[in-house]
Amino acid sequence: MFLPPSFTPRWSSPAQSPPGGLWFVLEGGKLLTSAAAGQADARAVPEGDGPPIPVDGARCIGLLGEVPCWAAARTGVEATPPGFTLEPLRRLFDRLPDELVAVAGRAVQVLEFERTHRYCGACATPTEESDGGRARRCPACGEVYYPRLAPAMMVLVMRQGPGGRELLLASGARSGGPTPPIYSALAGFVEPSESLEDCVRREVDEEVGLRVRGLRYFDSQCWPFPHSLMVAFTAEYAGGEIHCQEGEIVDAQWFPVDRLPALPHRLSVARRLIDHAVAETER
Ligand SMILES: [Zn+2]
Repeated sequence: MFLPPSFTPRWSSPAQSPPGGLWFVLEGGKLLTSAAAGQADARAVPEGDGPPIPVDGARCIGLLGEVPCWAAARTGVEATPPGFTLEPLRRLFDRLPDELVAVAGRAVQVLEFERTHRYCGACATPTEESDGGRARRCPACGEVYYPRLAPAMMVLVMRQGPGGRELLLASGARSGGPTPPIYSALAGFVEPSESLEDCVRREVDEEVGLRVRGLRYFDSQCWPFPHSLMVAFTAEYAGGEIHCQEGEIVDAQWFPVDRLPALPHRLSVARRLIDHAVAETER
């Protein structure tokens, strides 16, 4: 989930907006789409001078090439017009072009920030737009709020097994019970006072009871569900036996690189991390 190079971020609606644009209309994490022309299961983001349904607080969040991208929250209870549907963004991963999924992720984060920062958390006064639209400020006490980003780390632990390289992959309690279960790298949120490296060591210990060494940065990725910044590492196994943390990890195993279980979606940094490790092994 990466914004394309042709995307120029905007923080407030330009006074002279070009007419038309793409409308990223959201309601509770669901995105409004319409049927894409010519493809059976593909979806499109509605385009036009205005949104196809009533919205609140429309704002330009950037330009895709020359095309303005508008983020807005749905208002009212009228039925969605024929030809349009509201669906969770994750379910649209393979049915919208990747660049539109990424812009939709930005829309989710901007609207979520505004929804949860209408009032000052210190004195409860209604906040106002500030810093050219990047922030919200309390006119009474001066507190300034920027969009919340929650740093989270992800780590793929590897070892040399009897038959070759093995990856430690886990199936989480929150993965929603798909069949077959999805196995992924370990992940967790950074806690106050921790470095990313501290967080990696703590999470690996808590979730599976192992020790690691040789941390190497791999890549990072915005993950707008609703506001994570994923920072991915690889690490080498340094000791311990697998003990799954109750309530967090359903199963964790060492998988040989040529016998991997069901893996996360290709748009996730987890999948790229795993694919990268496999490719390195095969070189
Ligand atoms: Zn205040």
